[in-house]
Amino acid sequence: MAVPFPLAPSLWATTAPAAAPTPPLDQSIAVETCIVGGGYAGLSTALRLAERGIAAAVLEAREPGWGASGRNGGQVIPGIKYDPSELIAKYGTAGGEALTRFVGSTADRVFDLIARHQMDVPFVRAGWIQGAHTQAMVETVKRRAGEWAARGVSTRLLDRDAMREAVGAEQYLAGWQDGRAGSIQPLAYARGLVRAAQKAGAQIHGDTRVTGIVKRGEVFEIQTTQGPTVTARRVVVATGGYPDGLIPRLNQTIIAPNSFIAATEPLSDTIAKTILPGGQVISDTRQLLFYYRRDHTNRFLMGGRGPFREPKSADDWAHLERAAVRIYPQLAGVKFDHRWCGRVSLTRDFLPHIHESEPGLVVDIGCMGRGVGLQTAMGEALADYVATGDKAALPFPVVPVTPLPLHALHKLYVSAIITWYRMTDGGLKASA
Ligand SMILES: Cc1cc2nc3c(=O)[nH]c(=O)nc-3n(C[C@H](O)[C@H](O)[C@H](O)COP(=O)(O)OP(=O)(O)OC[C@H]3O[C@@H](n4cnc5c(N)ncnc54)[C@H](O)[C@@H]3O)c2cc1C
Repeated sequence: MAVPFPLAPSLWATTAPAAAPTPPLDQSIAVETCIVGGGYAGLSTALRLAERGIAAAVLEAREPGWGASGRNGGQVIPGIKYDPSELIAKYGTAGGEALTRFVGSTADRVFDLIARHQMDVPFVRAGWIQGAHTQAMVETVKRRAGEWAARGVSTRLLDRDAMREAVGAEQYLAGWQDGRAGSIQPLAYARGLVRAAQKAGAQIHGDTRVTGIVKRGEVFEIQTTQGPTVTARRVVVATGGYPDGLIPRLNQTIIAPNSFIAATEPLSDTIAKTILPGGQVISDTRQLLFYYRRDHTNRFLMGGRGPFREPKSADDWAHLERAAVRIYPQLAGVKFDHRWCGRVSLTRDFLPHIHESEPGLVVDIGCMGRGVGLQTAMGEALADYVATGDKAALPFPVVPVTPLPLHALHKLYVSAIITWYRMTDGGLKASA
């Protein structure tokens, strides 16, 4: 896969606290568990293992947080694509409710980790609003809010007027607010996880690309570009939307489109207080959704889908900047000074997949674009599983690596799907 847009231009890279040193692996070591990939999933696995007293090492090809974990929108939203009733229909009452508790806990886990480890992470916990852009979606958000409210979650239904007041814009017919959610500086959180994991005893090595995982008797030998190896009884592969052939056919199990974000310069107080004045984050019910927020420096960030390929110029973000001004006309004339993107990993059933290619070699993949909380929680679950061998620690079943049919054509599919959704999602104004 081509090297994606570097981390440097992201807003988060310019406003995050300095990274702790994570020197490359320069000599061969032996640990109980080796983790490949230094995103939220890998780092949270390492932290949890270290806290359990288990020797763990993370090998990251670039710097921890280089992937989606250092570039995302920083919206910490619990849940997944499926509502509790859909999870129950899929997994039965007990299984569905257990999964609902797991996916419902993901935002809590992020904010708990930030607090418990006193991480230097700017955050606001003011909730997430989901805006309904059609009448059919009004019914969907009402049902969704009701299902979570029935489970004791702090939710709020917003009619058109309440949405106008909360969002500061006219776009939506209605919406709901999930009080568990909030926002973070995402790269600061990745770096906070690094520091916490190191403090607990984990080794984190940046600039250390894993090139092979070979079973030798009872242990795995994890090979790196530089030469030194890690010997480990267990391996967790958490390479997100950037799998690079380590696990045969893994990259064929996902589609990894680029998500794009454009951010403005810091807004004047006069403008800032007109945009999401309560400090919530927001996304909408479109298939190709927009997600937006203000950050701790009062910049406005607009995120959404862009071209599948790597960006060529600032023009690849122009649709997001236009959308921002359509939603908030007061942004006309405000400069967008940061543009970046990263890859999300989508599975066919829109669920995270856990694979165990062979006993002791565990793979986590599939974030569906909502991985800040989810992959933090997945890391904790994977750590508990490799520490105990008890599959009950895993929220999702272990499934075989099954390539998507005609995966080689996926870029064409994605382009066709994006075009189709752009047509069917409609424009930015809510349709009555
Ligand atoms: C632009 C964007 C916006 C998003 N917005 C949100 C949001 O607002 N809210 C939300 O919840 N989610 C959001 N997401 C999704 C979220 O960021 C991801 O789900 C999450 O960060 C995935 O974490 P991860 O650890 O699985 O993968 P990543 O963070 O992608 O980490 C994988 C790491 O593996 C490393 N790697 C790959 N191969 C190797 C190898 N051979 N050797 C060593 N290392 C290797 C990579 O370098 C990379 O650092 C967004 C994603 C993007 C891209």
